[in-house]
Amino acid sequence: MKKQRSNFLVNSVFIGIIFILLIFLKRMDYRVSELEKRDTVIEKVEIKEDLKPDRISSIPVVQKKPNFKGIIGIIIDDFGYRNDEVSDGFLKLNANLTYAVIPGHKYSTQFGERAVKNGYEVIVHMPMENLSNKGGEEKFVLSTFMDKNVIQDRVKTALNQIPSAIGMNNHQGSKASADQYVMSNVARVLKEKNLFFIDSRTTAETVAESTMEVFGVPTTRRNVFLDNDDNEEKILKQLKELTEKSEEWGRAVGIGHVKLKTLKILQKKIPELQRKGFKFEFVSKMLH
Ligand SMILES: [Zn+2]
Repeated sequence: MKKQRSNFLVNSVFIGIIFILLIFLKRMDYRVSELEKRDTVIEKVEIKEDLKPDRISSIPVVQKKPNFKGIIGIIIDDFGYRNDEVSDGFLKLNANLTYAVIPGHKYSTQFGERAVKNGYEVIVHMPMENLSNKGGEEKFVLSTFMDKNVIQDRVKTALNQIPSAIGMNNHQGSKASADQYVMSNVARVLKEKNLFFIDSRTTAETVAESTMEVFGVPTTRRNVFLDNDDNEEKILKQLKELTEKSEEWGRAVGIGHVKLKTLKILQKKIPELQRKGFKFEFVSKMLH
């Protein structure tokens, strides 16, 4: 009799628990369906007028060009003394190129003007003293023994001869560009006239770039010489090095000269490199 009663009690408690569980589950189910309803309501609310698909498609999408490889700056040195099919050929290249004109030659002023008219950038190619004592441009060359007024006057005269110029780089100068005194006086004039200086780096001892930085003159340096050897294979090899550096660093500056082989190679290679994703840019856009 006692056992029957305790069985009845256990059963009642058991049924009671199941009953409570059922009620609990039912309520849970109700809450979930309520939440689902609210979610759908929220979704509906979020689709506002101004986000309709036609409006979304009108928002401009900025996309990085998929084949961008790097920026290449090319300076062509030694313009000024020739006015022929080679110098004319450079005025037909389809790229942003910088042409460096030596002051004091027959075509210096004229070539500078023609280059700017044809969409190129012009800088003065300033003659500077060389370790190997190469002569030339006696009225313009900057030497380490000169007084600061002479140096500054020569820089100003050179700039006056080529008024189209917006900057300067050095012609030769393995001695003068390593001289703080010479470069400081070049920097003073450039700062006053708001112009930039590109270090051609004709010597590892150069102080040109660091001196410009001290005086607040915008500057950068040459990374690769393209045609120190006037040999097609070597020029191609140097151009390859320039493109590799541009790809690795994002940008690089090369210097070539107004020579037939260099012209022919650039005529062929510039369009090829542009198709591959290299962008040719004026050195004035690559300064620090
Ligand atoms: Zn030169």
